[in-house]
Amino acid sequence: MPVAEPAEPAVSAVPVVPETMEALVVLEPNRYEVREVPVPVPGPNEVLARVRAVSICGTDAHLIRGDYPGFWPPAFPFTPGHEWAGELVALGPGAERYGWAVGARVAGTSHDACGVCQKCVEGRYNLCENYGKPGLHKQYGHNVQGADATYVVQGVKTIFPLPDGLGFDEGAVIDPASIALHVANRGGIAPGDTVAITGAGAIGLLGADAARIRGAGRVILIEPNPARLAKAAAMGFETVDAATGDPVATVRAMTGGFGADVVLECAGVPVTVQWALAMLRRGGRCAAVGIPTVGVEIAMQRLVLDELELVGCRATAGEMRRVMPLVEQGRMRVRDVMTHQFSLREYGQAMSTFNDPASGAIKIIIQP
Ligand SMILES: [Zn+2]
Ligand SMILES: [Zn+2]
Repeated sequence: MPVAEPAEPAVSAVPVVPETMEALVVLEPNRYEVREVPVPVPGPNEVLARVRAVSICGTDAHLIRGDYPGFWPPAFPFTPGHEWAGELVALGPGAERYGWAVGARVAGTSHDACGVCQKCVEGRYNLCENYGKPGLHKQYGHNVQGADATYVVQGVKTIFPLPDGLGFDEGAVIDPASIALHVANRGGIAPGDTVAITGAGAIGLLGADAARIRGAGRVILIEPNPARLAKAAAMGFETVDAATGDPVATVRAMTGGFGADVVLECAGVPVTVQWALAMLRRGGRCAAVGIPTVGVEIAMQRLVLDELELVGCRATAGEMRRVMPLVEQGRMRVRDVMTHQFSLREYGQAMSTFNDPASGAIKIIIQP
């Protein structure tokens, strides 16, 4: 396996890329199989990577269920997967100009934005104004084929060097870790803040680490699932059991009646959005990353009179590189949220484990 040593540029033999590969192919909602398909060919400023690890995201489960018809994916058959790590095995024309070489270890993310629209120019490529326009914008594993396969083609804007100290499994969780850091950044957490987080899934738990990295004084996780509550407690966070009692009253009681300076809303359920706003301190800020599938009634009067702030958070915008040293130093504890591992052929088992609240699954790693 040609993995480049850090000190010397690789002069190893060019890896032999087969003509076909194994890929998870979703044929229609809830019907999928692992199939032999052609290995894709990298175009200009693209690379071909051997995928070593890919992690299951909540979006994958929604997409496979057909929850976003005609949008994610635009059509079936489709190969999902967008949180991955692997090594480069071929470069498309021009990719070498950006410093890439065969053998480089990388972590991937999903947004391959146009780079030209006003939002891209401002650095907010997650809000690309050419979203989904053919030839201008791609989101791997969402509107174009993803990484649930032994090989994947992605653009140079969407791959980041994986430090030697990090394994491929950890590399597959860099994308969600970068999203967690983005949410904490959008929350504007200041040193000493009390931060409450609704939902102790991967983003909630890694968001809790990100809150500490930004200097939070207290981090409180609100969650109904006992396994996730136990995980949050084991990681050293304060917890509130949302299955019993009123979490808003509990958080207020824990904060001398004032509420949390910042809430990171990581559950995406209407009631958790309402809790998030209700447990904010006056002048507090809620950063929401969970995406409710229905409308949510908001206590607008309180938002106005208490000068609450509510901001959305979409994916990541520049945090991929920044989160790597935090993961390397063990401050963003991706290993702690990895609960299961499966091969690509076991994807069905992996997905049922992911969807089973009793399984204790948080991040499931697939090794193609
Ligand atoms: Zn994801
Ligand atoms: Zn753009």
